[in-house]
Amino acid sequence: MEVLIENLEKRFGETRALLDINLKINDRELFFLLGPSGCGKTTLLRTIAGFYAPDSGKIYFGERLINDVPPHKRNTGMVFQNYALWPHLTIEQNVAYGLEVRGLSEKAIKDRVREVLDIVQMEEYAERTPNQLSGGQQQRVALARALVIQPDVLLLDEPLSNLDAKLRLEMRSEILRIHDKTKITTIYVTHDQKEALSMADRIALMRDGNIEQVGNPRTIYRSPANKFVADFIGETNWLEGEVVEKETDGLVVKTEIGVFQTAETNNMPIGTAVWLGFRPESVELKKADFNCVETVVEQVMYLGEVEQYSLRLKGDLRIKAFEQNPLEIRQFGDVLLIHISPLNFILYKK
Ligand code: ATP
Repeated sequence: MEVLIENLEKRFGETRALLDINLKINDRELFFLLGPSGCGKTTLLRTIAGFYAPDSGKIYFGERLINDVPPHKRNTGMVFQNYALWPHLTIEQNVAYGLEVRGLSEKAIKDRVREVLDIVQMEEYAERTPNQLSGGQQQRVALARALVIQPDVLLLDEPLSNLDAKLRLEMRSEILRIHDKTKITTIYVTHDQKEALSMADRIALMRDGNIEQVGNPRTIYRSPANKFVADFIGETNWLEGEVVEKETDGLVVKTEIGVFQTAETNNMPIGTAVWLGFRPESVELKKADFNCVETVVEQVMYLGEVEQYSLRLKGDLRIKAFEQNPLEIRQFGDVLLIHISPLNFILYKK
């Protein structure tokens, strides 16, 4: 089911939680709403669910305008942070509830409940109550309860935030597997950029009630629309600079620590003041004929699979660099030559 949102606005008193949101979520898509606390992602999800009425704008499920349709008639399934299972009912009864209120026969209910418990791999726990399950298992049941009604749209509100780090990783692949199997259009709210990058078909990155960028994970990470998106989606080193030359294969930028060739071909005139950004993992520890700078190691942090360095540059600037599986041990005070490929720079007008 496609979800179309047009010019959506929502205010709470003086707070403008959503400002003119326009978004098209494709049928079968696993779509993420990502952004910092207070950016409006939960408000948007709840407005789609029908718990909040928009002040203006339209929401369509397929061809159908649903602004005036009450939540229980929108055929959405919702999963919350805190699972919200009924403690006095068994897992089977928890999952069956949504079908009972729809008046299905006892046999149809039993079959359908078995089917979804099988999808979330919880069949053997059907007779237990929620307090006899782990957090991850409870979250699977919450998913089963949302899926059992065969929703047109599945809405997930930070579904993994109550789980520990390892379980969170496991449940990421579990949700991907379930989405692959059911292909239900899913809208997933999170503030965890790794969760969004690793799972999403597409992401809408929000700030202060606006959408800053919509794109697939690679586009958002590699070509962020602005400095805010770049900083939110991953770590970035920033240098202040000025465009000094325009070459056919990219702009040349002069900074405090040297001149860099970028692959940025947009139309900034010479003299434009810019932010020049690059990710820690794009710093290569090698000598090259261009885009090369001398640095001094200031701090080394061993993280297992990567080594993280804080490197000091001329003018007391510092940058962060990662080295994958290093063979040499770097130490405080070591001089390292670094190179950054033109393709790994991002550039924004200041
Ligand atoms: P978080 O990740 O912290 O849940 P969020 O991105 O989901 O944040 P929202 O909960 O959508 O953000 O809140 C957006 C803005 O609207 C915030 O400024 C918040 O304080 C405000 N807000 C949200 N719900 C209400 C409400 N029921 N009454 C008044 N203000 C609200």
